[in-house]
Amino acid sequence: MADVTEAQVVDALKRIVDPDKNADIVSLGMVSGVVVKNGHVAFAIEVEPERGQALEPLRKAAEEVVHKLPGVLTVTAALTAERNVHGGPKGGAPQSAPQGHSDMLSMPGVKSIVAVASGKGGVGKSTTATNLAMALAQLGLKVGLFDADIYGPSMPRMLGISGEPVSPDGQSLLPMENYGVKCMSIGFLVPEDSPIIWRGPMVMGALQQLLRDVRWGELDIMIIDMPPGTGDTQLTMSQNVPLTGAVIVSTPQDIALLDARKGLNMFRKVDVPVLGLIENMSYYVCPKCGDEAHIFGHGGAKEEAARLSAEFLGEVPLDIEIRKTSDSGEPIVVSKPSSPHAKAYRDIAKKVWDKVQTIQGGGKKGPKITFE
Ligand code: ADP
Repeated sequence: MADVTEAQVVDALKRIVDPDKNADIVSLGMVSGVVVKNGHVAFAIEVEPERGQALEPLRKAAEEVVHKLPGVLTVTAALTAERNVHGGPKGGAPQSAPQGHSDMLSMPGVKSIVAVASGKGGVGKSTTATNLAMALAQLGLKVGLFDADIYGPSMPRMLGISGEPVSPDGQSLLPMENYGVKCMSIGFLVPEDSPIIWRGPMVMGALQQLLRDVRWGELDIMIIDMPPGTGDTQLTMSQNVPLTGAVIVSTPQDIALLDARKGLNMFRKVDVPVLGLIENMSYYVCPKCGDEAHIFGHGGAKEEAARLSAEFLGEVPLDIEIRKTSDSGEPIVVSKPSSPHAKAYRDIAKKVWDKVQTIQGGGKKGPKITFE
């Protein structure tokens, strides 16, 4: 079947009339960011923040009209607002209300959700999130991995998954799966080189919609690979997704530059418990002689964690094997499970799971973990 085109989507949306303005949403310039790939359609409808709640029926109608086009498998319409989000301690609802309301997303089958965040990009956040998810799965847990790094989705590559998610009912998506971990990423739905320019509120709308539309089933823990940094998107996400806690990945340099501290402060501001800090690219192991070189200084994260009253969860060295395995879709935890690096990730995973259980009430519910 011929793929639906952007023009067809826009054409269909001309039938949707904004009730307050008596004109269609396309002529009013409210539709933006139309993305079409193999029958999966996503777009944003820009609204004034105060009208968010009232326009939920309009959003639904827009989805329905596009869904009726031949060749359309799934439709994701997000209401977005242009204004900036200013959160604060219990700072009220964010002004950009995804899906028209600012309610906490409800994910009934998912027992715990942990965000993996970083103060900036390139510190190995996605690599850490992936290996952590694999390590949690090796502990016998049911694990999901959600790639919220919408600016650079890397999960399809890191998990070695290609192809597209299936939608049996045209409404929800089945997660992709490899190495015993269920995964969803915007990278499965849009081409890797697609020049999408996501603006803050739109990112949030699309992410929340995607998270909600996936049939995760029962999960003990979901790991969310957050977008890098501590801007509005991250803040809104921390407010609207029921996070059990967050871990912060940083490199020794990043610790020195206080970027990690920003991440920590962001989660504290929205009352999300910080489970701890992970130091990545902590030191360099010479592949020839096994010598450890502490290029950027070492142990900074441990000291910083103590200073900030956060737990230090562990350190992972800078090692070419970690890069090669994660970039080739075989994360080191699964491809070299007996390596010291895989063990480091497993130790971190165990600490994370222990903390999650403590937060959730005494560790009575989850499966018991034993270590060799
Ligand atoms: P981020 O998600 O913070 O942007 P990535 O996880 O994508 O960072 O990592 C950036 C690059 O660094 C990737 O090529 C990855 O394979 C590599 N990398 C991450 N952690 C390590 C490590 N401990 N040792 C070697 N390379 C690493």
